[in-house]
Amino acid sequence: MLRLQNTLTRKKENFKPIRKQEVRMYTCGPTVYDVAHIGNLRTYVFEDVLRRSLEFLGYKVTQVMNITDVEDKIINKAKEQKKRIGEVTKVYTKKFFEDIKSLNIEEVEVYPLATAHVKEIVELIQSLMKKGFAYQGDDGSIYFDISKFKKYGKLVGLGKIAIKDGARVSADEYSKDNVRDFVLWKTKKKGEPSWRSPFGGGRPGWHIECSAMSMRYLGKSFDIHTGGVDNIFPHHENEIAQSEAATGKKFVNYWLHGEHLLVGGERMAKSAKNFFTLDDVEKRGYMPLAFRYFVLGAHYRSKLNFTWTALESAQSGLWNLWRELGRLKFLSEHDKFKNNRELVGKLEALFKAAVEDDLNIPGSMAALRRVMSDPDISPSEKRRLIFKMDKVLGLDLAYADVLSKIPVHIKALVVGRELLRRNQQFVKADTLRHKVESLGYEVEDTSYGPFIWPNYNRKSHHKT
Ligand SMILES: [Zn+2]
Repeated sequence: MLRLQNTLTRKKENFKPIRKQEVRMYTCGPTVYDVAHIGNLRTYVFEDVLRRSLEFLGYKVTQVMNITDVEDKIINKAKEQKKRIGEVTKVYTKKFFEDIKSLNIEEVEVYPLATAHVKEIVELIQSLMKKGFAYQGDDGSIYFDISKFKKYGKLVGLGKIAIKDGARVSADEYSKDNVRDFVLWKTKKKGEPSWRSPFGGGRPGWHIECSAMSMRYLGKSFDIHTGGVDNIFPHHENEIAQSEAATGKKFVNYWLHGEHLLVGGERMAKSAKNFFTLDDVEKRGYMPLAFRYFVLGAHYRSKLNFTWTALESAQSGLWNLWRELGRLKFLSEHDKFKNNRELVGKLEALFKAAVEDDLNIPGSMAALRRVMSDPDISPSEKRRLIFKMDKVLGLDLAYADVLSKIPVHIKALVVGRELLRRNQQFVKADTLRHKVESLGYEVEDTSYGPFIWPNYNRKSHHKT
């Protein structure tokens, strides 16, 4: 039974989807005004692991991730660069998809654009106005009246906080200590994109986008909503208020939030200017998948401190996994081994139990390492089981088979070295070994003959 820590109840709960064996899930996507930093990417990796785990456990997943393509930050960037907002969002949307692809993040079913759903957003605002949850301010913008929604604060746990009547904010972000009515529709301003609506020209606020688009594709009530912990307030609190006020139904059953990535003990953020991007990672010679491996080393609800040293050891850890898988392939081709179904079943259950325990990926990685090192499991069974585990981990462990394709000229050199060794010409044999190494490969002598593998340090072998 899958158990998930639910931010809404502050408890680890048994997961029961609304529809049998089917999960409907919404994930807050990027605001495409800039390149994502690796702190943002950590959240997307967590959400991908969640999706993959649900699939591994046999659920059919329908996941929606919005792309916020109209927002204050985008408008400012466009002004700064003297571009149209569409030109800005196009560049960063493309970059976002490149980043998630290189992190082996699975594509979700729907990526709705905010600007393509203004109709749904306007309809939702209209129904909130009709029901008395929203009003037009004297500035012309439409605001959500939080004093009308009695459950306001249930996600973040505001308790009996004083809510100032009529105090409102037109920006999308504000603090927990300063709770106020938030904007649903921003009235038209000169030099800003706007759409027509029954309440005048303007554009949607950020929060209402997610309510409108999630319900458009997943229905009034669905199973899981995810994001980073910084989304809990005000964004997700506001989503609950908007959706439940409009429909009178429970919006989402399970809220899951991923913790921050830190740098030097501080939260990585654009505003703090202490961030790195995936391009920075690659420029320093690291694979994007090494970053994924690094992220998988911590539970998604733990803060994780990023250092280049930690990334270095993540990369060599991943390389070793690939090498071991290559070695297992080599062994399975060179000898007969007995299968041990009982032990394999036990270790697979261990892996699954870790995944089901609120996605304990460090625990499932430990199960993988046990499989790798157990002398009583045959190499081919190990490979089969590890590739199955990789459906959750998403480390592209099958890349080991690409690496194990050794070029013919390298193989020829190694065969030549073997002949020299058999004839006791060790000095000449060593010269050939050095030649092989200088070409980017290493040779390990085993009882089944030489095992050849690409050098870790040779960048040209690395998956990018
Ligand atoms: Zn959202």
